Amino acid sequence: MSKPREDYLSWDEYFMSIALLSSQRSKDPATQVGACIINKKQRIVGIGYNGLPHGCSDKELPWGKTGDWMETKYPYVCHAEMNAILNKNQADIDGGTIFTTLYPCNECAKLIIQSGISKVVYANKKPGSVPAFDASERLLKMAGVIISKFDPPASEKSLKIDLNTGSISLDSSQQKSISKPNPLQNISNDSKIIA
Ligand SMILES: [Zn+2]
Repeated sequence: MSKPREDYLSWDEYFMSIALLSSQRSKDPATQVGACIINKKQRIVGIGYNGLPHGCSDKELPWGKTGDWMETKYPYVCHAEMNAILNKNQADIDGGTIFTTLYPCNECAKLIIQSGISKVVYANKKPGSVPAFDASERLLKMAGVIISKFDPPASEKSLKIDLNTGSISLDSSQQKSISKPNPLQNISNDSKIIA
């Protein structure tokens, strides 16, 4: 009897991969973000990426980040989370989870809370204190939304999609655990210095 395949994507890896893939539809030259919403039954009900509103030309509107606000992308771009929520194919996403490639900003946090999503799984967060992310965290925590950093695989795992041949390969390292230094050894070494 043949065995099932052992090298496959976990649920979280699968949903985050879809968010990552969606980010590649973005035309933003600086930041490509993707989002994927699942309902309580682990079914995908919404996908989005950052882009301009429907009918607004990406050739006529600016993509810059600095200078006159009207000439930056900020007043015009819809974030991935917003698009995923607005594009959802199911009215009720209460208790759902949103997978995002970047930590949601405060504006998206409002939409996430109001749509009934109860968990955020994010892959990356900009370092340091950024007001939009600090305010987002404040809102999400206050509303009881669980914020979880995507737990990457213990060993290297990557997907390669070849659009020329229409094939995909999942490459994963055989190394199952990353060895960590023994903290007790460091303490004994440090104690000599203190003494
Ligand atoms: Zn946002």
